[in-house]
Amino acid sequence: MSQYKKILVAIDLSDDSIPVVQRARVLADASGAQLHLIHVIEPLSFAYGGDIPMDFSGIQEEIHQQATLQMHRFAEKHIVDAQHQSIVLGKPEVEIHAAAKELGVDLIVIGSHGRHGLALLMGSTANGVLHGAFCDVLAVRVGK
Ligand code: AMP
Repeated sequence: MSQYKKILVAIDLSDDSIPVVQRARVLADASGAQLHLIHVIEPLSFAYGGDIPMDFSGIQEEIHQQATLQMHRFAEKHIVDAQHQSIVLGKPEVEIHAAAKELGVDLIVIGSHGRHGLALLMGSTANGVLHGAFCDVLAVRVGK
């Protein structure tokens, strides 16, 4: 069986991102693969656009700056250089699929809260990424 060459690590920048990247790092070191980090910012207009007649561009720019800063700090700590970090705007599962295709990754590593019942029915990012992925997906159990 061939080794992984490029691994895309989806991070929401919460503390849950630590076990996710650590698991990806172990796999990358074992197979000589390259890690690429992605964080997706959901546009405020997705949530409020239709209901609140307001210009979100200033707040959106502030969110982008904060996310970029957090991503740089996170990447530095986990030894991922600047050319292997992406911050994109959109819906997480859609953008993670698009980046996986564009970068030609062979594995996506993502956190999963292992939801049950109604929360499971409502879906999660991990479920969304798993369905429709063109490559392997590893869901790392996070949270309690
Ligand atoms: P959730 O389903 O939102 O609880 O998130 C589960 C996992 O999906 C997280 O641990 C991340 O790996 C990934 N994820 C969630 N939101 C994002 C995001 N905005 N950008 C990148 N990855 C995300």
